[in-house]
Amino acid sequence: MKIWVYLENHGGEITDISLQCLEKGRQLALSIGGTLEGVALGSDLERVCQRAGQGGASVIYRIESKSLLPFTSLPYLEALRRIMGEHQPRMLLLPASTQGNDIAPALAGAMRCGSIMDCVEISFTNNALICQRLEYDRKVLSNYVPVGNGPAIVTLVDGVCEVPDPGSHGEVRVIDVMPADVEEATLVQVIKDEIAPRTVNLRQARIIVGGGAGAGNREGFKLVEELAGALGAEVGATRASVDAGWVGHDRQIGQTGAAVRPDLYIACGISGAVQHRVGILGDGKVVAINTDPGAPIFRMAHYAIVGDLRVVIPKMIQALGKKG
Ligand SMILES: Cc1cc2nc3c(=O)[nH]c(=O)nc-3n(C[C@H](O)[C@H](O)[C@H](O)COP(=O)(O)OP(=O)(O)OC[C@H]3O[C@@H](n4cnc5c(N)ncnc54)[C@H](O)[C@@H]3O)c2cc1C
Repeated sequence: MKIWVYLENHGGEITDISLQCLEKGRQLALSIGGTLEGVALGSDLERVCQRAGQGGASVIYRIESKSLLPFTSLPYLEALRRIMGEHQPRMLLLPASTQGNDIAPALAGAMRCGSIMDCVEISFTNNALICQRLEYDRKVLSNYVPVGNGPAIVTLVDGVCEVPDPGSHGEVRVIDVMPADVEEATLVQVIKDEIAPRTVNLRQARIIVGGGAGAGNREGFKLVEELAGALGAEVGATRASVDAGWVGHDRQIGQTGAAVRPDLYIACGISGAVQHRVGILGDGKVVAINTDPGAPIFRMAHYAIVGDLRVVIPKMIQALGKKG
């Protein structure tokens, strides 16, 4: 059984979320004795293929053409539809990124098969492929089982698993495939393609201290940073703190920020809006400090501290200092 992974290419490098899909695919292939294969499109794909091989792919279909850059939907869709029709993989895993979530439903429509988006887990149980999504404000974990004969097309969210260091998985065979001849230039024209450089890697952080509007001002936010420093933690933030200019966007957690999976998250002066909560994945412990006992953050917190962060945080730092 062939498990395919879409190897998202950005500037000649495989994206981190694609590496997570690859690792998930590797685990799935291992659990059923299947093979892990990748498909890469675009230009300058040497390093993408090499890294995918180090991630466990044994075969990579490379569809290389300058006309495939920058990414636009139709040429990718047509290329994937053709090559999947030819090789019949059991499934295609894609990152739940702009590209992946663009391609998946359109490809499923073209191939008349099912697509399941934004999955947080995927596994085989009694030979059935179970795809899990968090729904209803993350309160319900729903299981989906793709049916029919076509391949299952599944997108996986950022943070779905840890990416191991590049390994040695034996020979990787790269097969060059001609791109489909699709003239999309008249339909879509990309004016600019820019990704802000990432300076902090919140996703890898084991402890995060998050600061919200309750910090009150930049001075108040410094307390959040001091607590993070005392714990050897990363600083995270809500959009309100970012919008206030107390911290950069690269520290924002949530729907339009990073998805994180720390062992410990300390939320300081954060109300717990759903757009923030969706960024906190995994089953790590959550501690919340808030003056309002009815704040929604307390519904997800394992430890609730009802109090003013300007009082509570200095006490925590002091206690940590005594312990050290
Ligand atoms: C499309 C969209 C996308 C969004 N994406 C994101 C996102 O990615 N990430 C994100 O975070 N938000 C996002 N938001 C915004 C989100 O809806 C909330 O507005 C935001 O998360 C609120 O931030 P906050 O908790 O810091 O502020 P508030 O909601 O204002 O909460 C402040 C909290 O601090 C408490 N407080 C006040 N003073 C103190 C004190 N002295 N000590 C302790 N507690 C105190 C208050 O009781 C309150 O609960 C998005 C919104 C939309 C519409």
